[in-house]
Amino acid sequence: MSTLRFKVVETAFNRKSVPFEYPKEATSSYYGKYVFSRKKMYEYLPKDTYEALINAIDNKEPLSRYLADSVAEGMKKWAMDNGAKHYTHWFQPLTDGTAEKHDAFIEHDGKEGVLETFSGKLLVQQEPDASSFPNGGIRNTFEARGYSAWDISSPAFILDNTLCIPTIFISYTGESLDYKTPLLRAVNAIDKAGTAVAQLFDPEVKHVISYLGWEQEYFLVDEALYAARPDLAMTGRTLIGQESAKNQQLEDHYFGAIPSRVESFMAELEVECHKLGIPVKTCHNEVAPNQYELAPIYEETNLANDHNLLLMSLMDDVARKHNFRVLLHEKPFSGVNGSGKHNNWSIGTDKGEMLFAPGKTLKSHLQFVTFIVNVMAAVYKHNGLLKASISSATNGHRLGANEAPPAIISMFLGSQISDMLNNLVNNRDSRNLLKGKEGLSLDVAQIPELLIDNTDRNRTSAFAFTGNRFEFRAVGSSANCASAMIALNAAVADQLFSFRKAIDERLKNGQELNNAITDEVIELINYSKDIHFDGNGYSDEWKEEARKRGLDCETSVPLIFDSYLKPQTIEMFSRTKVLSKVELEARNEVKWEVYTKKIQIEARVLGDMAINHVLPVATRYQTILLDNVFKIKSLFSEEKFNEIAEQDCITIEQIAYHTKEVRKTVNEMIDARRQANKIDNEREKAIAYHDKVSPCMEKIRYHIDKLELMIDDEIWSLPKYRELLFIR
Ligand code: ADP
Ligand code: MG
Repeated sequence: MSTLRFKVVETAFNRKSVPFEYPKEATSSYYGKYVFSRKKMYEYLPKDTYEALINAIDNKEPLSRYLADSVAEGMKKWAMDNGAKHYTHWFQPLTDGTAEKHDAFIEHDGKEGVLETFSGKLLVQQEPDASSFPNGGIRNTFEARGYSAWDISSPAFILDNTLCIPTIFISYTGESLDYKTPLLRAVNAIDKAGTAVAQLFDPEVKHVISYLGWEQEYFLVDEALYAARPDLAMTGRTLIGQESAKNQQLEDHYFGAIPSRVESFMAELEVECHKLGIPVKTCHNEVAPNQYELAPIYEETNLANDHNLLLMSLMDDVARKHNFRVLLHEKPFSGVNGSGKHNNWSIGTDKGEMLFAPGKTLKSHLQFVTFIVNVMAAVYKHNGLLKASISSATNGHRLGANEAPPAIISMFLGSQISDMLNNLVNNRDSRNLLKGKEGLSLDVAQIPELLIDNTDRNRTSAFAFTGNRFEFRAVGSSANCASAMIALNAAVADQLFSFRKAIDERLKNGQELNNAITDEVIELINYSKDIHFDGNGYSDEWKEEARKRGLDCETSVPLIFDSYLKPQTIEMFSRTKVLSKVELEARNEVKWEVYTKKIQIEARVLGDMAINHVLPVATRYQTILLDNVFKIKSLFSEEKFNEIAEQDCITIEQIAYHTKEVRKTVNEMIDARRQANKIDNEREKAIAYHDKVSPCMEKIRYHIDKLELMIDDEIWSLPKYRELLFIR
């Protein structure tokens, strides 16, 4: 066996689990230990400061300078009591993940020593030297810098001896340069719009809150194997690799026993999450080998998203301790299930009522239908945008494949809700909401149970109603959920605003409230019925049907991004004040640029692997065969030779063919890249990478995978799928 491959495989397969023991104390005793929670605030802040801060958080009011100083003092004390030496503004640039700049808590004391300081000014606002963060042209390096500002709605926390302060990141002219700013604007929009509609049913409602419960899927790979695969190490996915004889056909991995190395990793990750106040609840195996899932209890959307980003970096740290690498890529292995991050989403009132949960009275039931139907209308109207919100170079490999939601957004409702909506439309009477399939009246009290129990678990829909929430399943495992949550919350908010307006209009014209709502709901059902699809989303018939219905069926990621700049999108985002046209344009520049860069890196890595790893090995094996053939020839008669050496000669020719194709296509790919790089326009460049560079990569992979099948396993230098995918 190739010595390097032999060594790393041996290392990986002989690795013992790194022991980890759960703390002896109850989880509740260390839960949130490293979070500046309300309890810690109460403990560390003067009483009036505490009350003013809580008031500012709850009522979304700005902090005064005096207050900020007082909060900073208490926060510093708490952080230092818990071992923090540094502080940082923690923000979410338009690239993946989070960014931070660490500063120590020290100032000169004037006596050649230092003292620990942290002022309100430093807490509230900073100017990270952020010229290297993408901004899509909004803020070029010669202009004023961007600044980060504290998001008081998300608590500060301590990570690696650093006090992390969640912040937004904006330019001096006020444009967002991050994900958090528009997310906060979107949850505000849905608060306002949702409240306006909820008040039709209960005038006492003051706020509507958006909730998110994400389910993070990921793969684990042994770090020795990972290091021996330049593609995994540099792009997060395998660019080549023949499927292993056994992968997930037997489905024995799902809910099967978790290897002890992985169990140990999961236990430590869970404890670390709990210390940081991330309410992780379930961890289990997923469908593919080495694939796992982790999900917390749902939380307010902005906090839930901060927690997901924090989790992603935490996972990486903990995995390294256990000699693993986490793969968050949506499609690390071809032919094996990809990873997503289902976004379970719902909204509820400040009185604790969940607005997508069926009601117990006719009134609350009408409210339930009103909200469901408004979501349906928003998803219908903005289905192209929602797809754009989850699209990326990496998720593009997962969507549309046969195990993931198709590259079409549709909405699954289940037979109960479908029947109910049909009844309503056919009979134009809200009392028909309480009739089941055969038109029989149901006992109001039994409705909630009935609906929840009967929501079919259709797994093929990109956007499904699951009893008391919607599950947006198309979100990618490596994504910042904010992207999807910004689009969804804003689109639904816009729809709810217009619903309230329509009702007010009807009331002004003398219509009775319940009738007005019923009529408006029926109009929306008719308007948006084309988004509703309960069938098999993976089927070819559905693709055809979706096209007929006029749903967005674009599959090219750079073109999918165009949805962000369609007039109806720009208008929606500007009405809800979530993103301005300038911001949308700038952000799209970044999306196209990031798309291009991802493929550019992959193309370089693949070129290197083809030329420096695969071809030399192929030639070596070909030489061995040639040598053999020559020796046969010198020993045997021509007739015998033809018989004995026939297969070797065929293999020699096949190797020659595939290596020639690899070499040729690598050259074509380099050429395509050169051409694409000359293009100035980011959109056009991304399109060129999609149309011209990516197809070369697929072709190269095809020939390399054929070579992998032919060449002596002993000399193949890169760890194979069967080695990467099974943890011992
Ligand atoms: P499944 O895999 O069957 O979809 P899980 O239990 O793995 O279910 O994940 C469900 C996720 O949905 C969890 O994060 C859970 O907290 C979240 N969730 C449950 N109810 C709601 C809700 N009303 N709003 C938002 N998220 C929710
Ligand atoms: Mg789910």
